Amino acid sequence: MQTLRARWLMTESGWLPDVTVSIDDAGAIAAIESGAGSGAPGATGTNAVATSAVAANGAATNAVPTSACPANATPAAQVDLLIPAMPNAHCHAFQHRIAGLTERASGTGDSFWTWRERMYEAIDALDAAALETAATTLYRRIAAFGYGAVAEVEAARAHLGTTPIDWLCANAPVDAHWTLVHATHATGAELERLAALDATVCVCTTTEANLGDSQFDLQRWSALGGSLSIGSDSNVGLDPREELRWLEYQGRLARRERSLLVSAGNPHPGSALWRRAVAGGRRSLGLPAGIGAVGAPAQLLAIACEDSAMSADEALDDLVFAQRATRLHGASASASANERIERN
Ligand SMILES: [Zn+2]
Repeated sequence: MQTLRARWLMTESGWLPDVTVSIDDAGAIAAIESGAGSGAPGATGTNAVATSAVAANGAATNAVPTSACPANATPAAQVDLLIPAMPNAHCHAFQHRIAGLTERASGTGDSFWTWRERMYEAIDALDAAALETAATTLYRRIAAFGYGAVAEVEAARAHLGTTPIDWLCANAPVDAHWTLVHATHATGAELERLAALDATVCVCTTTEANLGDSQFDLQRWSALGGSLSIGSDSNVGLDPREELRWLEYQGRLARRERSLLVSAGNPHPGSALWRRAVAGGRRSLGLPAGIGAVGAPAQLLAIACEDSAMSADEALDDLVFAQRATRLHGASASASANERIERN
């Protein structure tokens, strides 16, 4: 049993103040005490990420647990905020090997299709041992940025979002167990149909932008109450904060409006998006539901906040959009992340 104390614990609907969270050996939250006087502001000096890997099953993917907890982490005494680690609902680890190497213009009208040829070349160059090394390296890196579990896609399969959604809905038992990746070309009518079937859409914004794909109509999907998950996909971006930030930004650029992806009763896009993508991501990976509740997965990220005047929701806005006063604790697998933490 491990115990963590925090000034604020993220829950489904809000924040619990001054909590003591007990985590059982199976990796679930065993108990939550609130108001126990455990959260002195500014007590941020400990290495405080606690995660536990929870395996999941999926028809199209293998869910690979990752841990954001470095092997030598000292159990936390006290942190500022505890939030659920982000599920990574769509990932090809091997594609990280060509990240950055496919940006040079070939002079022949580069597109997703020219990138795909390069990607196939990368597959051909990999044997099983190289793939394992690539995956291990990548998982350490994405864990350091706050992902808590990942759905790895083993081969370059056709993305569901690129097949006609009407055909899929007519020929497959699409329901809440289904996740459609990208769905960037879905029509309004198709989104209405998917929302009625309670399917999840996994949006991989940094990859879609990098490949010159299209833009998922997240505003329409949100208005329909659609379930959302995120994925690092090609792994040009490893940080769930970047994915969430650009979900909001692409809407701002298209509409010339701000603060679009908030939820009823919560005007803060940072915490609204984080909750929504965790809930949808757990669905995509087949993980137990529940945020900040007994029995929920204890894949928790500890967040340090150096501005004691900030509310918990303001701290999440800062974490997703600015990172002026907030940072992840203990995410040490990445040297650059370490440097950033030490400079702070
Ligand atoms: Zn993919």
